[in-house]
Formats: sequence, C-alpha cells, structure tokens
Amino acid sequence: MEKKRKTPNVILIVIDALRARNLGCYGMQGEPSPNIDKVASESTLFEKAFSCWNTTDQSLTSILTGKYPRSHGIMNHGDKVTEEERRLFLETGTKLLAQYMKQSGHKTLAVDWMSRWFKEGFDDYGYELERRGLDRLKYHLVTLPGLYRDYLLGHLPILKLYKPMRKSSPKELIKGMKDVLSTFAFTFNLAKLQDARFVTQIANDLIDHSQENPFFLFLHYWDTHTPYYCPKSYLDKSSIYDSKSLLMEKYRGSVKYVDFQLGKLFNHLKENQLWDDTLLIITSDHGDSLTEHDIYFDHHGLYDETTHVPLIMHYPESIPAGKRIESFVQHVDLVPTLCDLFDINCNIDELDGNTLLPIIRGDKTAHRDEIFVEESYVQKKSAIRTEDYKYIYAVDNDGWCNYCQKVHVGREELYDLNEDPAELTDIAPQQKELAENMRSELLAKVKTLDMKRQQLRQKYKPQNGELSIEPDSDDEELIKERFKKLGYM
Ligand SMILES: [Zn+2]
Ligand SMILES: [Zn+2]
Repeated sequence: MEKKRKTPNVILIVIDALRARNLGCYGMQGEPSPNIDKVASESTLFEKAFSCWNTTDQSLTSILTGKYPRSHGIMNHGDKVTEEERRLFLETGTKLLAQYMKQSGHKTLAVDWMSRWFKEGFDDYGYELERRGLDRLKYHLVTLPGLYRDYLLGHLPILKLYKPMRKSSPKELIKGMKDVLSTFAFTFNLAKLQDARFVTQIANDLIDHSQENPFFLFLHYWDTHTPYYCPKSYLDKSSIYDSKSLLMEKYRGSVKYVDFQLGKLFNHLKENQLWDDTLLIITSDHGDSLTEHDIYFDHHGLYDETTHVPLIMHYPESIPAGKRIESFVQHVDLVPTLCDLFDINCNIDELDGNTLLPIIRGDKTAHRDEIFVEESYVQKKSAIRTEDYKYIYAVDNDGWCNYCQKVHVGREELYDLNEDPAELTDIAPQQKELAENMRSELLAKVKTLDMKRQQLRQKYKPQNGELSIEPDSDDEELIKERFKKLGYM
C-alpha cells in the first residue's frame, strides 16, 4: 500500500457476535446485509478471518492490542476479570490501538459503553445514549418488555440442556444456575444500551466535529448479541413458528437492522466527501452458536459458528476492490497492519500478529497456516484449526461447561473439516496419531505464549512498587452513573 498525501481516517467497526456466515458477502442468501455487501464488493474481504477468543473482553483486547489473550493477560470476561489480569496487561507493556493511532496524529474516538481498560489512548470513549420524550416512554413500555418476553420464550429449548443437571451435585447445580441467571441479567441490561440507531447517530455527530483532523473512530454495535434487538418491521412473521425460530428470525433481523444503520453511516461519509479518505474495517469480536452443537444462542464452544468472523477492509486509495483473500488471518493481525500503514513502531516482535499489507498488495499469497483460539468463560478449551482439521483440547483437564452442566463432546475433539465442515463427528478416537500430533502442537503454542508473556513481564514490570490499577468498581460506578443519567435507575 502506498503512502497517501492526506493521512486517512480510520473507522473500526466491531459488530458484536456477528457470524461471518450470516452476511451476504460470506454466502448467506436472501440479501441479509445489502449495505455491508456493497462495501465488501469494493473492498478486500478476508474469507478465513478468525477471532482469538469467543467472548467480548478477551477478543476485543486482542483486536485492540495485536496479542492473544494468553499474551495480553486478560483471559477472563466481564465480572470474572481479576485484578491480577489487569496487572498482567499493564506489566507486559501492552499498548492499545488508540495509543498507536495518536502517534500518527489521529484524534481517537469511540462509541461503546464498555470503557474500562479499552478506553486507554482514546480522547473520547463514551456512549451518550439519549432516548427522550415519547421515544423513551415507548421503549420502556413496549420495546423492553417485548425483548424480555421474546428472549425468555426463545430460550425454552435451552431447558432440555438441563437434563444432565439432575446428575450434578447440589453445589454444581447452584453454581450453574447462578451463572445462567447472571448472564440473563447482563443481557437484559445490555438490551437497554444497544440500538444501532444511536451508535450511528453519535458516530455521525463525532465525524461532523472532527473534520479538521484525521480521526480514528472505534464503533461497537451490539444489536446482534443476545437478545438480538431489532424493530418489529425487520422481522418476517412467516418465519416464526416456535421459540427457536423466533430467536433465529430475531438474529437475522438484527443483522439487517445493523446493516441498515451502517448504510446511514456510509452515506454520511460520502455526503461529507470523507468516503475516499477513510480506511474502513468491518469485523466482529466473535460469532454465536444459534443452537448448533447443543449451544443455544450463546457464544461458547470453539466451533466455526463462534470463531469465524467477517473481516472487510475498504480504502479505495490503496486497498484493492473486489479482492477476496483465502489465507487464514486473525484479529491479532489488525494492529500490526495499521501500524505498518501509518509507519508506527509497535515492537512487532512483542505482538502475536503480523502486517496484512503484503497479502493485501499481492506480494504474498499465504499469511498463516493455522488458527489458534481459546475460551475460558463457561468452559476452558483451546483449539488449533488448519485447512483440513480442527483440534479442540481442554488443556488443564477441565472441559466442564458451566452453562450446560456437561462436557461438550469430550476433553479432546478432532474434526475433519473437508468431510465434516459442520464439526459434528469427533474422529479423535479413530485418528489417534493425528490427534496426538495436534495436541503436541497446541501445547507447544500455549507454552510459547506463556513464556513470551513471562519474558515481557520481566522486561516491563516496574522494579519498585506496582503499577496502579483502577479498581473495577469504578467502572461499575461509571456504568451505573450512565444508567442513572439515562433515567434507567
Ligand atoms: Zn462480544
Ligand atoms: Zn455449554
């Protein structure tokens, strides 16, 4: 990619829990995403882009740092992120994308409610969600109760998963129920915060006020996360006949709704003559399992539904239009790519990804041979995916799923992706040698990353005293403050 006269703006769009396969440009029929598809046809699209983890906190941190969670230290999610993990993040010298983008003179802006360690380097990281007057009344009296009802109704199939719980000990049973209830509670809170309309409105407003500087804008859309919010007009009632189809249709509708709101953002950029000067990156932090593998409307499991993400880059000046790249790429490659583009030193050896510019330019045809992905929130598993096989392993012997109260499939799983792309038949018992080889490879990868993290900690950890970490309670206070401001508490 050649240098451009004017420093381009960068907009990084993360659509939470969006499966690549549900977009038209990734093969879904029926025009599910016309605006994204149009942009994709003028972009370079990565057909085999994968997340590094299957839950938001760890994955987003990888997107924004260029490191696997095992390297940046945030291996947990939500309220389970420990102070030790926050400390690891700082003591390994981990930097965030916004910090790099400031070095290239970008004004750094985000529209997202998460905040916490993500906000480092942003001039403005906020989500000033405003629902006023009738809109607010309607939302509380009609929309929100509807979301709750549909979400609970749509989760009826999940009940059958609780059969194995009868065999659980009372302690396990209580722990499982607590986890499920806290997820429901979180999801209900999320429903209050998510509406693509507001994300786009705020984004367009920020863009209007940032025209003299190049800007880096991070946008986090949430509608495609459970409970899959979309206005009623986006639902095709004829496709709804039971509780499962209700949630499937809501997921489809939420994709279409985000796509519609993105169309408004794209138009705004075009109307303001910013379209050609902006590098646009569209991805998701992870996918979702819509009942596949007995995982109901959630993103645990390391199957492709949950790990295969869209990745689209649009920048007419120097990114080829209509190019589709087949080689594997992962989220950890994004920071090195942007740093390469803007000539920023990111200590590339300390990161886990590498620049995608050579493969985008066509100087190279292969970027990675395999994908490494892990999970820890409701079950602990790690996986390696090659072109031909997926190998999943519970490294520390604990593959127990806290939601489903069972070990999904087994402690070790092997799938032949050519014969069985849906990953339904575990061939580990038959293919012992292959499983063993892939297990060694996976364990070597884990060991390498663990050692690298320790070395970086050695290098960056202050010799005297400790780095100060903002306690998480502050963040909860911040979120509570926002809820209060918006009239939700
Ligand atoms: Zn997420
Ligand atoms: Zn499960």
